[in-house]
Parts: sequence; C-alpha cells; structure tokens
Amino acid sequence: MFKRLLLLCLVAGAGSCALAQERQTENVIIITLDGFRWQELFAGADSSLIYEKDYVHDKSVLEKFWDSSPVARRQKLMPFFWNVIGAEGQLYGNRELGNRVNCANPYWFSYPGYSEMMTGFVDNGIRSNDKKENPNATVLEYIHKQKEYTGKVAVFSTWNVIPYIVRAQAHGIPANAGEEHAIGDTLSDCEMLLNALQPILKNGHGERYDAFTFFYAFEYLKRERPRVMFISFDETDEHGHGGRYDEYLKSAHHTDRMISQLWQWLQSQEDYKNKTTLLITTDHGRGHISRKAWKNHGRLIPGSSQMWFAVIGPDTPVLGEMKNEAQYFQKQVAKTAAAFLGIHYENTEPVGEVIESMFIPELLSDSRIMDLHR
Ligand SMILES: [Zn+2]
Repeated sequence: MFKRLLLLCLVAGAGSCALAQERQTENVIIITLDGFRWQELFAGADSSLIYEKDYVHDKSVLEKFWDSSPVARRQKLMPFFWNVIGAEGQLYGNRELGNRVNCANPYWFSYPGYSEMMTGFVDNGIRSNDKKENPNATVLEYIHKQKEYTGKVAVFSTWNVIPYIVRAQAHGIPANAGEEHAIGDTLSDCEMLLNALQPILKNGHGERYDAFTFFYAFEYLKRERPRVMFISFDETDEHGHGGRYDEYLKSAHHTDRMISQLWQWLQSQEDYKNKTTLLITTDHGRGHISRKAWKNHGRLIPGSSQMWFAVIGPDTPVLGEMKNEAQYFQKQVAKTAAAFLGIHYENTEPVGEVIESMFIPELLSDSRIMDLHR
C-alpha cells in the first residue's frame, strides 16, 4: 500500500508528497579536466587529427579510439561518461545540437576559468596564471564556513596554482597540489607509496601525473570522508600544448577510468551511496578552426571559450545528452554546486544562476535548496 502511494505521488508529481521531493545530495565532488574539448567529449577522436603523424606517435590510439561513428567513438574514448553519466545523468555542451556552454570571462585560459567557476562571476582583473591568491572568495570557502562543512572540504590538483585560486590555505581548507605529499598524520600504505614515488615518476613536462592527484584524493576520501571535494586534473591540457593528440586522448580516457573507479566506490559506501553528486567540467576549450588550432587556447583562438558540463547524482533527472537549444556559462557552476547541498550561495558580485535542469523540478520549488543555511 505504501509503495503504491509513493508511486502514485511520483506519477502525479504534485507538490503534496514530501517523500518524493526530499533533496538527497549530502556530498558534492567537482572534477575538472583541464582544456579538454567538447568536440572529443561528444564526438570522440577527431578524424582530422588522429591520422596526423606529427600529433600521433602511438598508433595504438587508432585501434583503441577510432570508429567511423561519432557515437561509437565517444563511447570508446569516454566509456564512463557515456555508459554511466549518459544513462543516469546529464551532459551539456554539444553545440551540434545547439546546447552551448561557454566561459563568460574573455580570456579563455586556466586561472580566469577556474576563478569564474569557483567564484561564480567574472573578475576582469584576473588575467594571468601567476601563483597569486585570488582576491575573491570562492564557493568552496563559502561552504567551508558553514558549520557542518568546516573541515569537510578538500582540494586535490595536479596544477600547483589551484590552491591559490580557491584560497585554500588562507581558509584552512586541506589542499594537495603539485609536488605536495599526502595530507594527514596517519597515512595509508598507498599514500606512503605515492609519497615515495612522486619525486621519481614525473610526466614529460616535469610534473606529477594525474594518477597521483587521483590516488591522493581517493585515499583522503576513504580516510577523512569529506563532504565536498574539488579534484582538478591537468594532463589533457599539457598534451594539447605539447601537440601530442595521442597522449591527449589517452589522458582523457585514463581520467574517465579514474572517475569511474571513484563513482563505483562512492556507490558502495553507506555515507556516499545515492547521496553524492558529481559535477564534471573544464576550465576552457581549445581552438578548432585550423588543423593546428587544437593545440592552443586563449582570447585570440576561436573556440577556446567553448566548454561542457557533466553531472550525475540522486537529485538530477536522467536526461543524458542535453538536446535542447540553450546557453549556459561557466560562472553557473558555483551556485549550482552549493544548491545541491541546499546552500544558497552568494558573493560580493552577482553570481551565475543555478542550472535548474540539473535538479528534479520538485526540488526547485523547495525553499530548502535555495535557503536552507541562510
Ligand atoms: Zn593551457
């Protein structure tokens, strides 16, 4: 009888049933793949690049990632994004369908992008990638200031400027970036191994691999059970600038696998299962006009402001690839991430609006999603 009642009110979708409209998200994890294009996310390996011998030294990527069908290609490249998020979540930014996501900032490189994403607005004064503390507060510190989240927010990144962009140190948010070792006094075997290997195993650009960032984050998650995390990967951008399309594809694929591993674990844990929303995005796009344009990005390179979002979690309707004509902006991430936790985020400047389609409609009329902690 109870089941039938619940079903009835789910079907009716009316505002009368409290059971059907409870917000489920208690944890949010924001993940970024630096400079990873929407073109590869939605159509897989690019036919004009994967056969270029200047860009592809490792021919195995042809076998791994090529197919004449763009839908098959994207599934080969990003199987978690398409088999899991595509089936249970949402993907925004396929411009072929008129679904557009852009940076609102006019610079189209990393610091301005991450700052826009995390503060929720554009500060035109932010126009360098220098390791300087952001003059603006971010959504992470806003959440961290809420009593129940203090000490429950953490940041892991390959790029060592990320902690400055989110002002982690100044606000006591645990952060691990660049060459830093694991956070904590009692480390797991895995963390001790990572600490030992990190100085030895560097990528071709002298930086740590994204896998270190991932496993440091994963071990911290298992041990400290944070409620909000920002995990920022960097290899896709590095290989883009390096002109190695094979490595760019492999990095995206590895990242997809790491996110899959993370999601499987989250869905196996009592305190995270069906209570965690993943919000995945990028800091900027890359060029696409000429054959070499994909290597770079910036205000003089058309296409660099084009980006994408992916989201999966208990409060997000299953819509898969978004096919509606619409325009979204990077600055909407901050307020949307907070809204998943029922936190109404604001800053000294007006911030980008909540992306309403990421929430089941019943939740949008629920004042708790906007104002719970005010
Ligand atoms: Zn870059």
